[in-house]
Formats: sequence, structure tokens, C-alpha cells
Amino acid sequence: MSVQQIAQKVLDGGRVDAAEALVLYNEAPTHLLGRLADTIRFRKHPERVVTYIIDRNVNYTNLCVARCNFCAFYRPVGSADGYVLGFDEILGKIQETIDLGGNQLLLQGGHNPDLPIAWYEDLFRAVKSRFPEFKLHALSPPEVLHISRLNQVPVPDVIARLIDAGLDSIPGGGAEILVDRVRRVLNCYSKASSDEWIDVMREAHRAGLRTTATMMYGTVDTREERIEHMMRLRALQDDTGGFTAFITWSYQPEHTEHGGHEETGIEYLRTLALSRIVLDNFENLQASWVTQGGKVGQLSLAYGANDMGSVMIEENVVRAAGASYCMDEVEIVVNVEDAGFVAKRRNMHYDILGDPIFREREVPRMTSLATARAEGDASVPEELKNYPARSRQGKRLRLAQ
Ligand code: SF4
Repeated sequence: MSVQQIAQKVLDGGRVDAAEALVLYNEAPTHLLGRLADTIRFRKHPERVVTYIIDRNVNYTNLCVARCNFCAFYRPVGSADGYVLGFDEILGKIQETIDLGGNQLLLQGGHNPDLPIAWYEDLFRAVKSRFPEFKLHALSPPEVLHISRLNQVPVPDVIARLIDAGLDSIPGGGAEILVDRVRRVLNCYSKASSDEWIDVMREAHRAGLRTTATMMYGTVDTREERIEHMMRLRALQDDTGGFTAFITWSYQPEHTEHGGHEETGIEYLRTLALSRIVLDNFENLQASWVTQGGKVGQLSLAYGANDMGSVMIEENVVRAAGASYCMDEVEIVVNVEDAGFVAKRRNMHYDILGDPIFREREVPRMTSLATARAEGDASVPEELKNYPARSRQGKRLRLAQ
């Protein structure tokens, strides 16, 4: 089929297959991809509302045994600049988030062998007992797998125990590209193969959780492999309907072992638009302004995105790889409205919560994103001694506590 025939099929509401998606990705002019994606966005969201959430990205530990070679965030177990946040630090971050009008933590971290499942359960319970309405969007599929393997507890039981402790939803991190060839090259196959990532999400959906899905492109992946990734997500969404949203971003290469370069803004917009076309059973697509900057983030709204993601408040992972964009609620709303949309706050299920909070009450402006910890803060949380360590370094540290 020609580009024009496939474009007409999309405009008629048809579903593209992998071969047709590849023709569009390789050959369609960027403005045509944008028009197709915008048409689908408008069908799904005719009221011209663009949503965002006020939440905080908290990375509870940077110690990780997975050692993905595209990651600039992790530190090997035993590193002097490794950290685990204390329960009090995390509770303090939640209070600050609530003060800024936020209602959720995106909580993710490294695969730390010295944090047993009880640590996560106790943390979640501590959060819910202090802030019962606050939501925990926590632990990507590879983290769930890590907890399962470390504790010898099957994945469905890990998910059930975490839900019981207060888990509200699972973020789609760690998907990278759901093709095992790519995962092997990036040294992330052993943390979760493509099938394992999909299976954790399937179990989460079965358990009643809604989750997001992501794609990080631009390392060693081909366009065919990006499309294969989208097809896997589309198939699972057909089965379960459990995904709330899809978020894609380009690989950020600075300070990583893999190195290389970052894909361009046009490649991002083309990839975003194509994902809107392929993922016809996803309601929501986020703009990744945190990797692409505010201006491309704003343009994303013409290329299929209907959500500006999160105000974020704190960010550690992307910053470690060289990107440090910051937008507070005011700036997000200005970008949304200037693009001709109505900005609304939402929760993790994409229910509208209301108008921008800064129009309802005074909230402090935010000029930079917070970090997990102040530079040089190597403090070890008191409660860690309550949990058995698995690593040699962790055991030594517990004895010294
Ligand atoms: S991407 Fe996640 S799992 Fe991989 S090294 Fe970084 S922190 Fe560890």
C-alpha cells in the first residue's frame, strides 16, 4: 500500500499492521504523520482538554545490580555515592508534594539486593497511614521481578502483597524496547525479557491495577523493532485494557556506558505520532517534555499527545544522563493554553480533578527540579537495620549500624 492509501485507511478509522506502520514511519511527510495523529487525538478527546498531574518522581535507591548500559543513574552496590532514602525522607517529600497540590508519587529505584519485600511493604503502609488519600504509582515491572526473585515469591503474590500494603498502580518503566535482541545489547535482558515485562503487566492488570506503558528508543533499535514494541503493547491492551497511557522518549546518552547520540526533535515527533496511529486502543499519550524540553513538549500536542505528563517536582534519572528541563504548573499551563487547549489537572486514572491549582490558591513557583538528596549526603536510614541484607557490603553496613 502507498503512504496515501494507508493514510486514508487511518482517516477511515482502520487499524494499521506492522508493515503499514513501517511505510508511514519511513516515508510519510512529518506534517502528514502529525495530521493523522492529531485526527485520532481529536476523535478520542474532542473537548480539546490537555491534562497533567502534579506528582513527584522519587527514586528510593540508586544502588542496582542490573547495570543496564544505557543508564547513567545507577551506582554499583557498595558505591560511596549509593543511597537508600529513609522512610522519613520519603514522607517529607510527600508532604512537600501535597503542599504543591500533588496527589501521587512516582516511586522507582535500582534493583537493590539489600531491600527485601518487607521494606517496600512497610514503606507503603507508612505512607498510607500518614497520607491515606495519597497515591503510590510505584515499582516498574523489572523492579517487581527483582523483588520476586530476591524473595523467592511468585510475581502474582508480590503484586498482591504490595497492593495490600498500598500500591495503587505500576509505572511502565523498564520496557526500553520490548525486543530481546535490543535488550541483550543493552544488558537489560536479564532484568526482564520482553515476555517477562509483558507478563508482569498482565498480572498487574489481572489484579485490577491500571498501569502505564513506555518506550525508550534511539539506542540500537531499528524502526521495525520500535513498531514490534508497539504491537506487543497493543496486543496486551486488546487482551486486558489495563493501560491508561503510553509515554515514549528518546535515549539520553550522556554519562552512560553505551554512549552514542540523542535522536532529533523531529524523530521524536514522528515516533510520537506513529505511536498514536498504531496504539489505537490507548486513550492517552503523554508528551515527554522532561527529555525533549518545553517547546517540543508543546509541539507534541499537535502530534498525538493529549497529556503533558507530570509537573514532576523531582527528577534524578534523566538528569543523570544530561537532560535537566523544568516546568512548574504555571509553565505547563501556559504551554497548553498557548497551543489552543484547555489545561486540566488529573489523577493517575486520568479522571479530571479540576482547573490549575495555582488559580485556586497560592503555590510557590518552582524554578528547578529537586533531587533525591543533597550532594554529598551519604546518611544511612536508621530503619534499614531492621531488614536483612543480601550483599556483602550491605551486611557489613548493617553490622556497623
Ligand atoms: S535502568 Fe534501572 S535497572 Fe537498569 S541500571 Fe538503571 S536503575 Fe538499574
